[in-house]
Amino acid sequence: MILPFTEDRDTGPFFAAARENRLVYAACEHCGRGSHPPAPFCSHCREPRSAWQEASGKGRLYSFTTVTHQIHPDYPAPYVLVVVTLDDNQDVRLIGRIDGDAALEIGQPMEVWFEQVADDVTLPQWRPASA
Ligand SMILES: [Zn+2]
Repeated sequence: MILPFTEDRDTGPFFAAARENRLVYAACEHCGRGSHPPAPFCSHCREPRSAWQEASGKGRLYSFTTVTHQIHPDYPAPYVLVVVTLDDNQDVRLIGRIDGDAALEIGQPMEVWFEQVADDVTLPQWRPASA
């Protein structure tokens, strides 16, 4: 399993929230735009102040691709990599992995779930929203 570095100054709070099964995103305190991945400066207005916002866990499928050629033993193909735009803030797009060959449509409602991949690492993942 490929694990992210979760103690980074900018992204640490994102992974800390995920360990508590919460989804958060960074939004600029000056212009309100979201930034992901979070950075020391707003990518829209360059202000250095941002705050973590709680996300609803709902989003829309922005893009996806199905991987049919296995490239890592821990990730058996096929699987689908998805990019989801948060309903809470259209600036924020997150990626996720769906095992198997999912039938998806751009724009469809998605919902987050949390996959614990190591003792101290939990990743937000995405699946089609239940009705
Ligand atoms: Zn800004």
